[in-house]
Amino acid sequence: MRAWVDQARSIVVLTGAGISTGSGIPDFRGPNGVWTRDPKAERTSQIGYYVADPEVRRRSWQQRLAHPAWTAEANAGHLALVALEERGTLHTLVTQNIDGLHQRAGNSSERVVEVHGTMREVVCLDCDERAPMERALERVRAGEEDPPCRSCGGILKSATVSFGQSLDPHDLRRAERAALACDLFLAVGSTLTVYPVAELPRVAAAAGARVVVINGEPTAFDAEADAVLRGDISEILQAVLV
Ligand code: ZN
Repeated sequence: MRAWVDQARSIVVLTGAGISTGSGIPDFRGPNGVWTRDPKAERTSQIGYYVADPEVRRRSWQQRLAHPAWTAEANAGHLALVALEERGTLHTLVTQNIDGLHQRAGNSSERVVEVHGTMREVVCLDCDERAPMERALERVRAGEEDPPCRSCGGILKSATVSFGQSLDPHDLRRAERAALACDLFLAVGSTLTVYPVAELPRVAAAAGARVVVINGEPTAFDAEADAVLRGDISEILQAVLV
């Protein structure tokens, strides 16, 4: 496996929630996920409810305030991917995570495609203006329960892709082009069940790349992968990449 990494000229890495659980950020969809245990919590992530119901928005802002990502530190798994970029063979890092920990670890923003958006910014649902999340959270701390857009008064939301919203077609195209261009594709910490991102390993394999799955649990792509490394994600990435 290390030999494959050393031989590869162009590596694409896809990361999911499993790489961030080691930083104390819960996996929302996993077996012990927040949504699996409390399906009602998922409501705040559905765009229809969010727009229609001020109570859902108030609850969402409280959840954002309390989110573990604000104090989370990048872990050894994130750092292994920084080492990969420093070696010069990381083509693109596609992530389903919204926590921004890859950039905080040291991967350059240009290499990271956040297909599900980022919780570190807010976006106005009416005028599309974006702003740092921290500023909006300051307003919530100061007593605004559902701070409106400063420019147009519209509804603000974290700049993440909620259920009922489509992925940014530009980001998706970048991810697909990267999958087509690489000779080694690593799927890390993702169950590979959420489409269209789950298609990427198949796209890479069809274009001739080796595909390696690294995860704590079985994934939907295990049977088709060239190799499956199951275990502690940080330890595996450190062993294989650093
Ligand atoms: Zn606005």
